Amino acid sequence: MTKIVPQPGIMDIALYVGGQSHVEGVADVVKLSSNENPYGCSDVAKSVYSKSGLDLHRYPSTDHASLRAAIGDVHGLDPDRIICGAGSDEVLQFIAQAYAGKGDEVIYTEHGFSMYPILAKMVGAKPVVVPERERVVDVDAILAACTRRTKIVFIANPGNPTGTMIGGNEVARLADGLPKGAILVHDGAYTEYVEGHDGGAALVESRDNVIMTRTFSKIYGLGGLRIGWGYGPKEIIDVLNRVRQPFNLSTVQLSVAEAAVKDQDFVAKCRADNAKWRAWLAEALMEHGVPSDTSTANFILARFSDRAEAEACDDFLKAQGVIVRRVTGYGLPNCLRITVGDEASCRRVAHIVGQFKGDTA
Ligand SMILES: *Cc1c(COP(=O)(O)O)cnc(C)c1O
Repeated sequence: MTKIVPQPGIMDIALYVGGQSHVEGVADVVKLSSNENPYGCSDVAKSVYSKSGLDLHRYPSTDHASLRAAIGDVHGLDPDRIICGAGSDEVLQFIAQAYAGKGDEVIYTEHGFSMYPILAKMVGAKPVVVPERERVVDVDAILAACTRRTKIVFIANPGNPTGTMIGGNEVARLADGLPKGAILVHDGAYTEYVEGHDGGAALVESRDNVIMTRTFSKIYGLGGLRIGWGYGPKEIIDVLNRVRQPFNLSTVQLSVAEAAVKDQDFVAKCRADNAKWRAWLAEALMEHGVPSDTSTANFILARFSDRAEAEACDDFLKAQGVIVRRVTGYGLPNCLRITVGDEASCRRVAHIVGQFKGDTA
């Protein structure tokens, strides 16, 4: 009998490990491990969701026209160049599927988002990891790693789990320096947390090799519903639509996302609260001897003296019901990624880290 074997690369993929959500024996748990919005989603989105279950026998829209029009309207973008997916992860997958394969190289950075190597391997391409400079994307290092086999460069900006950003001029320099035929993917999962930031939209408008991705999972508080989108050159979006399944988003996903994107007051309020408590938490941790880079997202990458201390602090937090994220898999064993929660959660984290460091009773 012939052995049934998957395509090359597939078995090199380590199964994704999500943020933990329970602690054995602890009732009052706060989950700060998946960068979820502590305030949930907008009330408008909730009300659309609760009314949405009536026509379940009908297939959803296949072109997502209404949602794309709403996104285009809110962000001043051409709806014909928007593609929607089941989370931005699905849009990232379309890009990998359509543009990389055997013999191709896919570049991402040292502490880059864990989906990038998974996607490269999924399509049989070679993942190429490039160093960062002190937890910041290094454009020169990426350009130096490019070859004529480079097809995709993934950067998250703001980065996850680093929380750091590079400026628009640096991103433009990266796009302009790529080999012909390579695409820059500007992953803007945390764009809304950066006041006034366009997520790379202007760069997409002025280049033919840049695509940006965005999500409803973070500031919109809709991670459970799985909606994301991408914006790129017409030719690329046209290609991606060919690998997209016609009914990849349900009626519920479409209608809730549309309501959510129209409620920009909610987004602005969450951005302001996040900025306030992120600054407070970073300073409180610093006072307990735990530094972090200035974060531009909704989490802080807390740095401990070594791996042992980071793990001991993680255990200490967990025992008291606070779940944060270990990031050893991202090459950051001495760090913990802590989502910025609401005021009570931030105070709780700071207090427990203080206890751990022996600073507070
Ligand atoms: C959370 C996240 C995503 C995508 O999440 P989806 O839920 O699939 O939209 C993409 N990139 C980065 C860097 C993220 O942190």
